[in-house]
Amino acid sequence: MARTIGVDVGGTKMLAVTVDGAGNVIGERRVPTPAGADALIDAFVDVIEAQRAEASADAVGVGAAGLVDRDGVLHIGPNLPGVRELAIKALLEERVGLPVQVDNDATCAAWGERELGAAKGSDDVVVVTLGTGIGGGLVLDGHLYRGAHGFAGEVGHIKVDPNGIPCPCGGRGCWERYASGSALGRYGREAGEGGRATRVVELAGGDFHDVRGEHVGAAAREGDAEALGLMDRFAWWVAQGLATLADVFDPDTIVIGGGMLESADLFLDRTRAVFPELVLAGPERPAVDIVPAQLGERAGAIGAALVAREVVSR
Ligand SMILES: [Zn+2]
Repeated sequence: MARTIGVDVGGTKMLAVTVDGAGNVIGERRVPTPAGADALIDAFVDVIEAQRAEASADAVGVGAAGLVDRDGVLHIGPNLPGVRELAIKALLEERVGLPVQVDNDATCAAWGERELGAAKGSDDVVVVTLGTGIGGGLVLDGHLYRGAHGFAGEVGHIKVDPNGIPCPCGGRGCWERYASGSALGRYGREAGEGGRATRVVELAGGDFHDVRGEHVGAAAREGDAEALGLMDRFAWWVAQGLATLADVFDPDTIVIGGGMLESADLFLDRTRAVFPELVLAGPERPAVDIVPAQLGERAGAIGAALVAREVVSR
C-alpha cells in the first residue's frame, strides 16, 4: 500500500509525518509556520522534500485550519494572517511533483481518529476539537464527509443562542463561545468580576482580567468548589452541542480532541452524564460513546497522510 506524507499547518507550527502502508509513522519533523503566503508555500516544499529525503512517498496530504475548498484552495485561515485564497494543492503539485490533497485540519484529524485512533472501526463518527475555538470533522457511512464545497464540519459556529454573545465570525451565540477553552476562561473572568472564584483569580495572578481557561482547570484540579462549578457549566455546554450533532448525524462514537483534552478528567464524565437528557430520546436510543482522542497533536498530520491515499496515482 502507498506511503504518504501528511502536513498539518497551524498558526505557530507545521508538523509533517510520513505514514507507511501499514499505518506506522516512519518519520516526523516540525518547523515554525512562517508569515505570508509565499513563505508558507516555500516552507511546505522544504518540509515535504526533507521527509522525502528520508523515505520516498507517493502522495502528500495537507490539513489546514480554515475553509479549504474541494480544489485545495484555502479561502480563509484564521490562524494564518495574510493568507487568503491560497491555491495550496495546485502550487504544491507543481513544486513537488506528487499528487496533493488539501483539507481542513479537523477533517483530517477525524479521518485519522477513525482509521487509527479512538474511533477505529466505527463508520459513523463525529470528531470535535475543543481548543481556543471548536473544530469538527465527520465520518458518515464509512466515508469522510466534506460537503458540497469542502466546508462541512464547522461545528463551532452552530448557533446555540441567537441572542447570545458575539463571535469573531460575525455571528452571535456560536457554540464555541460557550464550550471552548476561551469560553471557560470567560466563565472564570465573569465569576472573578463578581467577586467569586477567588482561587481561580489568585492562580491568574490576582487580576480577574487575566483569567484563562487553564486557571479554571488548575483550580478545579485542586478541588476548588467554585472552579468545579464552572467546569460543570462548561461540561453542560459541551454536551448541549454534542447532542445537537448526535440528533443530526446519529453517530455511534463522538471523539473529543483539542487542547481541552488535558482537562478531560474534569469535565468529560459530567458531559457524558447530561448528554442523554439533551439528545432526542436519550433514554431510549443506543448509547453514544463519547471518548477522548488518541492521536494527540499528531491527529491532523497522520489523518492528512491517510487522506492522501485517495489521490495516489496507480
Ligand atoms: Zn461564530
